[in-house]
Amino acid sequence: MAVPKVWVPEWNDWCPGCGNFGIINAEQQAISELGLTPEDTVIVSGIGCSGKTPHFFRLPISGVHTLHGRALTFAIGIKLSNPELTVIVNGGDGDQLGIGAGHFVNAGRRNVDITVILHDNGVYGLTKGQASPTLRRGEKTKSLPRPNINDNVNPIALAISSGYTFVARSYAYDVKHLKETIKAAVKHRGLSLIDVLQPCPTYNDIHTKEYFDKRVYKLDTDPSWDPVVKKPEEEGDKMAKALVKSLEWGERIPIGIFYKNELVPTYEERLVSSAPSYKERNPSKVKIEVDGKLT
Ligand code: SF4
Repeated sequence: MAVPKVWVPEWNDWCPGCGNFGIINAEQQAISELGLTPEDTVIVSGIGCSGKTPHFFRLPISGVHTLHGRALTFAIGIKLSNPELTVIVNGGDGDQLGIGAGHFVNAGRRNVDITVILHDNGVYGLTKGQASPTLRRGEKTKSLPRPNINDNVNPIALAISSGYTFVARSYAYDVKHLKETIKAAVKHRGLSLIDVLQPCPTYNDIHTKEYFDKRVYKLDTDPSWDPVVKKPEEEGDKMAKALVKSLEWGERIPIGIFYKNELVPTYEERLVSSAPSYKERNPSKVKIEVDGKLT
């Protein structure tokens, strides 16, 4: 099929050094290496600096810039209207874990087969750097008049306990690691979260490139680390280990896959088994479970 004519952006107004550049580069490389096309891929964003991601793509791609905190709801609607699409959400920690927290949690209960890329920088960058949900208590960025008095949300722990079946962390300045993590998340059957450590050099002078470069290490360098649930009876143990690992933050910060479980049916599969007419209306788009096997 011929590639359609698309608008290619001539400009980008993210600040110099912003971690968003690493994220969009890794995302484009992942999409390209996966062989995804504009006809089968949709990038969905909310409000914030990360909301501009679909605008700044240089690949021919379909994109939707939606409302504050509501990117997940749009993404789920898009996926359910055409389950063959690959749907990727881009949202900041303020967008997804502040105003969008209810949607973030309840998406986990459904396990829709989409990927969420969390641009996690600890501040509301678009509105001058107020503390956002992942900024830790006691931290004072240059944009705050005094240290933050609120505790932070742990995106990895929240996603695991909400039902996300692929939960990982990566780092915006390690584009290769992030690209491979995005590819693994997109290939995963079920709801994926990638918490991306994303420096905001304009407003967050604590979580800088220098801060993360010293601390970040890869989980897969530990040969004993195995986040994949292979049998139902392993689920509790793997989940508990991932939750404990998600608390590690300080001199060392782990990146990589914390938890992966493809034994849980997706929302699309649950719909089919609970409403056979959906299968009848979309015979080529959905799978159905027969005797415990997907056909
Ligand atoms: Fe990036 Fe921060 Fe600038 Fe927003 S304000 S574009 S997050 S550096």
